[in-house]
Amino acid sequence: MKKQDIQKKYDNKKKLLLKYNHHYFNLDSPLVTDSKYDQIKNEIIKLENDFPYLARKNSIQDQVGAPVTKKFKKIKHSIPMLSLSNTFDVKGMEDFISKISNYLNTKNKNLSFSSELKIDGISASLTYENGILVKGLSRGDGITGEDILENLKTIKNIPKKIIDKNLPNVLEVRCEVYIGKKDFKKLKKSFANPRNAAGGSLRQKDSRETKKIPLNYFAYGFGVIKPMFYKTQSEFISKLKNWGFNVNPYNKLVSGIEEIEKHHKNVESIRSSLDYDIDGIVYKIDDLNLQRRLGSTSNSPRWATAYKFSSEKAISTIKNILIQVGRTGAITPVAKIEPVTVGGVVVSNATLHNKDEIDRKDIRVGDTIVIQRAGDVIPQVVSVDLNKRGKNSKKYIFPSKCLCGGKIHTEINLSTNKEDAVRRCIKGYDCSFIAKEKLKHIVSKEAFNIDGLGKKVVEQFWELNLIKSPSDIFELNFDKISQLEGWGDLSVKNLKNAINQAKNISLNRFIFSIGIRHIGQENAKILGSFFKSIEQFSNMFKSNRDEVLRNLSDLDGIGETQIVSLKNFFKNKRNIEIVKNLIAKLNIKDFKDTNKKGKLSNTNVMFTGSFKKISRSEAKTLTENLGGKVLGSVSKKLNILVVGDSKPTKKKIDKAKELNVKIYSETEWYNLLNI
Ligand code: NAD
Repeated sequence: MKKQDIQKKYDNKKKLLLKYNHHYFNLDSPLVTDSKYDQIKNEIIKLENDFPYLARKNSIQDQVGAPVTKKFKKIKHSIPMLSLSNTFDVKGMEDFISKISNYLNTKNKNLSFSSELKIDGISASLTYENGILVKGLSRGDGITGEDILENLKTIKNIPKKIIDKNLPNVLEVRCEVYIGKKDFKKLKKSFANPRNAAGGSLRQKDSRETKKIPLNYFAYGFGVIKPMFYKTQSEFISKLKNWGFNVNPYNKLVSGIEEIEKHHKNVESIRSSLDYDIDGIVYKIDDLNLQRRLGSTSNSPRWATAYKFSSEKAISTIKNILIQVGRTGAITPVAKIEPVTVGGVVVSNATLHNKDEIDRKDIRVGDTIVIQRAGDVIPQVVSVDLNKRGKNSKKYIFPSKCLCGGKIHTEINLSTNKEDAVRRCIKGYDCSFIAKEKLKHIVSKEAFNIDGLGKKVVEQFWELNLIKSPSDIFELNFDKISQLEGWGDLSVKNLKNAINQAKNISLNRFIFSIGIRHIGQENAKILGSFFKSIEQFSNMFKSNRDEVLRNLSDLDGIGETQIVSLKNFFKNKRNIEIVKNLIAKLNIKDFKDTNKKGKLSNTNVMFTGSFKKISRSEAKTLTENLGGKVLGSVSKKLNILVVGDSKPTKKKIDKAKELNVKIYSETEWYNLLNI
């Protein structure tokens, strides 16, 4: 990459990170998850390390928090309020200890660490002069904080006056302000998590507003102290307790990696039962003289590290197991869990996938579990801690009835000939739970795409009996809607327009919208190109549909699974009635052949293995743009098999050879296309 491209990439990433910092630290409303944030930050740090010219000034590695806003008076900290370095595993912790030991030349001496829970809240500094609280600051950018004294004074148990004969004249106490999990639940405000709620509340312009919020805190350290009387961190913490500050009861002196690991695991196992969020344990060299010798980098002290818990995993307990019914009738068991923060988001549900998954992991109500959240995927249960299982725990019996009262069925998977792991209710529109989900699918972006009619509105209109079946969407009682809370003239008008527009729909989109199992967007397109018009498609409603279905088996992409599914769907008279009623309200446009003409017209292509130069989806688009068709399996219809360098499937190549299909390497394929 050229130097200017690297600079541009770096500048863009940095700009993005600064925006995230502002939203997170100043607006208390993060735009991305912590893991996404950490990922971008690590990319920037890597660029700064790989190309040192990038970080000449304002390196991300030197920054703490975000520049302070104009909302409060700015006050410079007497001693900077820094961030903490992070450690994520035993190896990291061992490295941290050995680095310090080497520096201090204390190899044979076991260092003592003050271990303190890392409360996931907002840091604040409280300065006392001759025992009187005179200054209260936020961390801000670490150098300058915001004057939030009046807000801090509203927090119960923050001493306004300290009585002690031997008190330093100037004493700065640092603490972490938080909102308890139980109190957070009661807050109506839509903050992503208790941390953001605490930040938002602590930095209210009007301290009377802050007073209404049940903020709490733990004191954990000091800034400036004059004169300095204390020798160790643990001694200072016990003083804090004597002076009346809230001090975390799990603080503990530890030494050696084994004790640290044991403590770490113990705390992680009680993490979900605490009323406040923690994201790790801070280990600080206890001896203040050694701390002074170690000093700090520009953004964190060298004598401390935050040993984080795995951000994407957390421990919780199952309060209950409920079932959810999907639009295809799939019954998904869901665990209601004790709320816990995973990757910056409070999680209170975890999917249990299906009956087999519950049986395999023997998941039960009351179990202590590890949950995991990857990206934006629904959290799932990774494992059960059998040691924590109570004597009276009972095996979970999967329900035999759907929420609608209908029987739950076990189907046989046609391709494997084995029982399907997913259990189903097969009552279709006759099950009100399925019907509601089908409606949500119909209005979705990929289907009718009706702006203003999202899942929540469908739920509301369902409860009000405004929409019970798809055709109701096109006969809405707008007078009634305009009387509902939150529906002004403009939003009603917009909804009316969006629904009118949605009446014009292409055949393939329509087929996808009616929500036949196994007929996704791609298959709907294939069916659209086969039926061409809604009149032809309506043959599926007739009793001789089996003939039509037989013809479908010639279509690439439509296999037995899809045919059986279509057959089952149209066997049901109620489904036909619903689809017919819907058709009557619409203007369904004939299928338009968008196949482009070009070098690959009438050519069926298939890819196996991955390519060096382009992705599989780009290869697919290229083929289609040149008029070709991409197939998913090797058959007589296949004309070209393109074999990528990495991990091609031998079976496919052998079969293609057997059928005399042309086989191209990646380079030969580009030569053919002239690219
Ligand atoms: P940090 O929160 O990870 O660690 C430093 C802070 O820990 C200190 O300032 C202090 O307030 C707190 N702390 C709690 N208990 C403590 C104790 N016992 N001793 C000492 N300190 C204690 O670091 P940070 O710089 O405040 O923030 C970085 C974190 O914020 C990262 O995890 C990052 O993912 C997240 N973040 C997320 C976004 C986003 O958009 N999602 C944006 C910015 C930052």
